[in-house]
Amino acid sequence: MVKKLRNYIGGSWVDSTATNFTPVVNPATCELLAECPDSPRADVDKAVKAAQEAYEEWRRTPVLSRAQYMYRFKNLLEERFEDLVEVVVKENGKTRDEARGEVRRGIESVDYAVSVPTVMRGYKVEDISSGIDETAERQPMGVFAAITPFNFPMMVPLWFLPTAITCGNTYIVKPSPQTPLSMELVYELLDELDLPEGVVNLVLGGKEASLAVMEHPGIVGVSFVGSTPVAKIVYETCAKHGKRVQAQGGAKNYIAVMPDANMEASVANIMGSAYGCAGQRCLAGSVVVAVGDAYEPLKNELVKRASGLRVGYGLSETTQMGTVISASAKERIESMIQMGVEEGAQPLLDGRGVKVEGFENGTFVGPTILDGVTPEMKVAREEIFGPVLSIMHVPDFDTAVEVINKSRYGNAASLFTSTGKYAREFKYRVNAGNIGINVGVAAATASFPFGGQKESFFGDLHGQGPDAIEFFTDRKILIERWL
Ligand code: NAD
Repeated sequence: MVKKLRNYIGGSWVDSTATNFTPVVNPATCELLAECPDSPRADVDKAVKAAQEAYEEWRRTPVLSRAQYMYRFKNLLEERFEDLVEVVVKENGKTRDEARGEVRRGIESVDYAVSVPTVMRGYKVEDISSGIDETAERQPMGVFAAITPFNFPMMVPLWFLPTAITCGNTYIVKPSPQTPLSMELVYELLDELDLPEGVVNLVLGGKEASLAVMEHPGIVGVSFVGSTPVAKIVYETCAKHGKRVQAQGGAKNYIAVMPDANMEASVANIMGSAYGCAGQRCLAGSVVVAVGDAYEPLKNELVKRASGLRVGYGLSETTQMGTVISASAKERIESMIQMGVEEGAQPLLDGRGVKVEGFENGTFVGPTILDGVTPEMKVAREEIFGPVLSIMHVPDFDTAVEVINKSRYGNAASLFTSTGKYAREFKYRVNAGNIGINVGVAAATASFPFGGQKESFFGDLHGQGPDAIEFFTDRKILIERWL
């Protein structure tokens, strides 16, 4: 019997009223791990009611006591670290080390939430007028929710939930139906904390549950992470329903390499950026822009290193690159490679049809390198979200910046160089939310805001850091005169 997953509402595991279920499949072994309910609106409604009922008592719980739950949550996450890693690998297909990185990043967001009693402070000015004092206080707002993607099933919900509840809000997570098991385990740990019932809730499902979250009048704000088309829908729908919204979308990240870059270190970094998590990272490097004489040595070294990557099952410690998420993702990525070839790119390394012994039906795509890519080609413009690296050759730094700024996405961009002037110019001129200088994956840590620009982000306050405190609280102004 395959396990049918349940929602977590009002402090208990409850059956969904769903009639449809999505199979949750290990993408390497094809084992059916569980069935994820496609929770209907009624289930979301139940979760919102539980979260609303919990809110009044929870916001009156002293902030220091709320933070204490986060210390205990962190300890439980540390104790179960390798179990969390294993769940991520099994349902997502990434390697153990990549999953370790993900769980570590998730725990860092819990560490940040512990600082809420300090960072949630307001401010005051005495005698703003004669005998009148003015204060701005931060208050929680009610029920918040997150709608999250498959590629970081553990880390992304943890970007939001710990800070939101420590600020005094109550919470609902709606994870990806492709990877619901990570949150199931996290909620088992949250259950052990004995939080007041209804402070944290989990509703499993897809589009219908997402829509119910976006439209529900009882939810004050939504954090979304996923693809750009859905981010747009979430931004518009939430705004229409009077909610706060931060919607992090897709990406097409460029990496420029100058001839004066340390080639060995640059290539090692680019490999991690392009092929880490099989390219299924919103910060994955997707196009390398080789400037002038950097082209030949860079191309040769990339092909050499990428062809040596060991593709396999993520649970094996020797695997260097795991699967992509599903058979349909594999089909989409392979058709993008084909499209690149038809557009005139040369496949220096072609990962289509790669087979892994013992896992013949696994959804593997091998590392791929397309050379001779130009800015007009679809492979240069559209998110592939797989282990495909395109190489472009440009004559100079200014052309590199021009090409990068033509992209409709603006999540991340990196430059490899040993010249400070280029580094400064790159940071100054490139329109992307996260800039790496000699760093291939410019991922903001938990105490800094994380978000992109252009079609990679819709909203104003980013996830994490001080922006998260702003997002999860409202400012109330108090003007006092005592006669
Ligand atoms: P997705 O957009 O398909 O799904 C994300 C979430 O939205 C899931 O919970 C899904 O159930 C829900 N959803 C899907 N279609 C919907 C619809 N029409 N209406 C309402 N909800 C819907 O994304 P994915 O495939 O799970 O994740 C990969 C994408 O996420 C990539 O584009 C990647 O770049 C992006 N991503 C961005 C960031 C970032 O910080 N910018 C981080 C991680 C992933």
